[in-house]
Amino acid sequence: MRSIEIIDKIQSEIPSNVKIVAVSKRQPQKSLDQLYLDGYRVFGESRVQELTEKYNSMEKDIEWHMIGRLQTNKVKYIIPFIALIHSVDSLKLMEVIDKLAVKHNRVVDILIQLNISNEEAKGGFLMDQINNFEKNRFIEYNGIRVIGIMGMAIKSENENEVRDQFTILAENFKEIKKRFFSEVDYFTEISMGMSGDYRLAVEQGSTMVRIGSTIFGKRDY
Ligand SMILES: *Cc1c(COP(=O)(O)O)cnc(C)c1O
Repeated sequence: MRSIEIIDKIQSEIPSNVKIVAVSKRQPQKSLDQLYLDGYRVFGESRVQELTEKYNSMEKDIEWHMIGRLQTNKVKYIIPFIALIHSVDSLKLMEVIDKLAVKHNRVVDILIQLNISNEEAKGGFLMDQINNFEKNRFIEYNGIRVIGIMGMAIKSENENEVRDQFTILAENFKEIKKRFFSEVDYFTEISMGMSGDYRLAVEQGSTMVRIGSTIFGKRDY
């Protein structure tokens, strides 16, 4: 099946307000070109260099999402064009994005990445950290707009375990919304779910699924 047919099939099985980010990392350029030709415009990448190369070589009406860990010294390469940064995992990173966005006359949408597994390797804010922030922590910026959260479930064969993690993420979203965003209407997004678990994620309230290998096939390593 072509990538576009797979996306259409997935979209037909989930609510229409759930956005599918086609994760094209480590996929050959011709696969992205074909999906673009077939009309799809929402792509996700996890490394800055690969993202900027693909951005430079493709048409400019693509909505590019950054989903991988982002180093502060690399923000400058993506700030002119990035549509959404899913992986904001520190206040330092938020501040760098804000400063550069202002410089580029942009307001860049971002998601707060949450770490619910407490695994250091995973990256993301812990809820304990967030609970200690002042009320205006996320709304005081001119160059960024925090529109929601992003999270990942542990890799597990146990559906219940994965579902529980998505439930926790959805609950954390509500808590954060209530505490920090009660006076704005743009904090609406929950980015959770990948090829192996997007159905469970959508059941628990995901509004954005990041799907790679199911759409494009196995990645080049
Ligand atoms: C690679 C990646 C995905 C997509 O993974 P698949 O299993 O190929 O769908 C989603 N989210 C993040 C953060 C990723 O790095």
